[in-house]
Amino acid sequence: MKRPITYYGDPGLRVKAKPVEKITPEIESIVADMIETMLSYDNAIGFAATQLGIDLRIFVIREEIETSKGKISFKEPEVIINPILTNPSPEMESMVEGCMSIPGFQCEVVRPSTIHVKYQNLKGQWIEEDLTDFRARMFMHENDHLNGVLIVDRMTAKDKKKFDAILKNLRKKYHS
Ligand code: ZN
Repeated sequence: MKRPITYYGDPGLRVKAKPVEKITPEIESIVADMIETMLSYDNAIGFAATQLGIDLRIFVIREEIETSKGKISFKEPEVIINPILTNPSPEMESMVEGCMSIPGFQCEVVRPSTIHVKYQNLKGQWIEEDLTDFRARMFMHENDHLNGVLIVDRMTAKDKKKFDAILKNLRKKYHS
């Protein structure tokens, strides 16, 4: 079942999500909903549970691949449960990010270039990876959601000023 997205200004986006204790049929059904929701949007490359009103440490992602004809397609969706990010590199990188919960908005976000992650898959197995490039970025963006953190919290002071009115309007638009 496709679930509705919560938008910027919704208090649910600010909660610190709870760990998944056990992979139950209920968890499997939530994950299936999250994947279905992601696949229903052409431009979605990831959703955290908190963006769909679910208070659990789960996110789903799908990485983009460029086909030979220069078209964009996607890899198989991946399920990330109880992620733990460690060892952020001292090197930082700036990238423009958007968020499905803040439609039409983009800003520069500075994050570590590489980071280590440990997480569970849908079978409950623990997996460890050293993340680089765009994959590292996706994990850090979605993991932020599980801690109630949004890209607007990571904007530069200059951007905060610049986008203040736009963000105020967005909050009004979705929560009037
Ligand atoms: Zn987001």
